[in-house]
Amino acid sequence: MTQQEREKEFLTIALHMLKNEKQPHNFCLDTPQENEKDKQNANALINNITDIPHAFVLGCVMDAMIKAEYAWMAPYKIFNALLAEKIIKNCSINELEKVPLSKYVSLFEDKSLKLRIRYIKKAAQRFYDAVQLIKCKYHFDASKIWSDKPSSCDVVERFREFNGIGQKISTMAVNILVRSFKVKLADKEAIDISVDRHVMRVMKRLGFVKCNSNEGILKKDIIGKARQMYSQYPGIFDRPCFDTGRCYCSDKTPRCKNCSLNKICKKVGV
Ligand code: SF4
Repeated sequence: MTQQEREKEFLTIALHMLKNEKQPHNFCLDTPQENEKDKQNANALINNITDIPHAFVLGCVMDAMIKAEYAWMAPYKIFNALLAEKIIKNCSINELEKVPLSKYVSLFEDKSLKLRIRYIKKAAQRFYDAVQLIKCKYHFDASKIWSDKPSSCDVVERFREFNGIGQKISTMAVNILVRSFKVKLADKEAIDISVDRHVMRVMKRLGFVKCNSNEGILKKDIIGKARQMYSQYPGIFDRPCFDTGRCYCSDKTPRCKNCSLNKICKKVGV
């Protein structure tokens, strides 16, 4: 297979995955240590961008240096703790914005909540700041971040205004909105691939980027390669890389025989 043929086939696989995206999105069901009811409820909460759009945004804000599933569980646990203590009457931003930062810090420090969040004080500050930004800039309604059919560039920039959200999470957030929630945007050109360790490993092994670059260069190379392969929606390659990295292409024992990318993979370094 030539390089061009491999890239073309990779795009076909990515388009096929996009077409067959399942609803609702599985945000936090792969957390064996959580009880089943909590997982189901937390997952339903994050998926409910119609009634509680800020839960999804707060999950994105929590997604730093931890397994994504723990980040998606966090809004549910924080909301529940505040409701149980009767500090809020419901989970709206109108209620959440009245909670002082010190209360968020104490909840994040509460070991009984099992948040599994790192750098607790910073995480509480990010949560508090996000609530305040949604209140002030989006008039208590987080869906205004994406509801006016903006350009993908605008939505990525809006996510980046949240304390703690950088390139990876902003593009991931917009990618999820488009892929899983079918939010309509004017274009998808600014939805870059969100480079994490799985995406990096798979793109290297596929032979689409050079293996020996340092991490910073590698990230730029991967983003550039995805743009070159499908400029109208570079983030389309995120899901096939991430899923493959997590399920088949492990660091030490890649399961190439079962991998859907086997026939296009150069298996560099394997
Ligand atoms: S074929 Fe093997 S090396 Fe290539 S992506 Fe799949 S699991 Fe990884």
